[in-house]
Amino acid sequence: MASPAVLMRLVASAYSVAEKAAAIVRKVMAGGDLGIVEKCGANDLQTKADRLVQMSICSSLAQKFPKLTIIGEEDLPSYDVDEELIENGQYEEILKKTCPPQYSSIKEEELVVWVDPLDGTKEYTEGLLDHVTVLIGIAYGGKAIAGIINQPYYNYEAGADAVLGRTIWGVLGLGAFGFQLKEVPDGKHIIITTRSHSSKMVNDCIGAMNPDAIVRVGGAGNKVIHLIEGKASAYVFASPGCKKWDTCAPEAILHAVGGKLTDIHGNSLHYNREVKHMNSAGVLATLRNFDYYASRVPDSVKQALVP
Ligand code: AMP
Ligand code: MG
Ligand code: MG
Repeated sequence: MASPAVLMRLVASAYSVAEKAAAIVRKVMAGGDLGIVEKCGANDLQTKADRLVQMSICSSLAQKFPKLTIIGEEDLPSYDVDEELIENGQYEEILKKTCPPQYSSIKEEELVVWVDPLDGTKEYTEGLLDHVTVLIGIAYGGKAIAGIINQPYYNYEAGADAVLGRTIWGVLGLGAFGFQLKEVPDGKHIIITTRSHSSKMVNDCIGAMNPDAIVRVGGAGNKVIHLIEGKASAYVFASPGCKKWDTCAPEAILHAVGGKLTDIHGNSLHYNREVKHMNSAGVLATLRNFDYYASRVPDSVKQALVP
């Protein structure tokens, strides 16, 4: 058999790398010393877990795929990474799947990987552990085409002997796996948004959508999981603040199951290596009925959020 396409090998490796990342996230928390550093103020934090996980993910992928462009959230000095942080495995189930033909001849150097080592850091420091995810997004031609989301604390309320954590992955044209796709009942408008980065504009935008309920949780990864599991109908964030590493993996998985993630204007996000990191024009995402929400974004919000 011909060797698997580079994209599938990368996704299979990133799956294993994300599981190692989750183990690091749990280990740092269990150790009790989070080593918190403020980046741009008290709502923009970095912990020892963010640092170690980024080193682990970026070094592991770079060793195996030296021609990739890898962009991680954390600004870290470059030094030799401890061998203990390197993950060499690959998830065999992914290698058994056929690469969608449009991606089968992609070269390693054409791929851009966006890494959020720990999404929902603020919530992690506050003990809201089920909000936390590890995000590895893969882009080609500026488009998010594959993604891995690991939830290190999935199942943590199930008791001491429950297996902690799960990994959701997806590739455009192939689908998304590791969870059960579910939709919110027809006609119900459940809006999910930020918990720790709210503003008047964020709330005004949600108010204009006639929500039946508003769910406020941390993390872009966590919010998109709520969309694909039928726990929320729209992710609405009418504010700058979210970055490309927050949206790349969630967008790819959402798009792989027929959903849509854009800025607040309904414009696609771009993930080529030169792109600005900030999603200045906010985020709007749904599994179904995108147009209902897009059509209700107030003009004042659109004017205030320039891409
Ligand atoms: P949230 O929905 O607040 O959890 O935000 C989703 C992602 O965007 C997280 O990685 C946040 O750190 C990031 N984010 C959103 N707003 C801001 C902000 N005002 N400053 C820094 N990071 C932000
Ligand atoms: Mg994040
Ligand atoms: Mg992060």
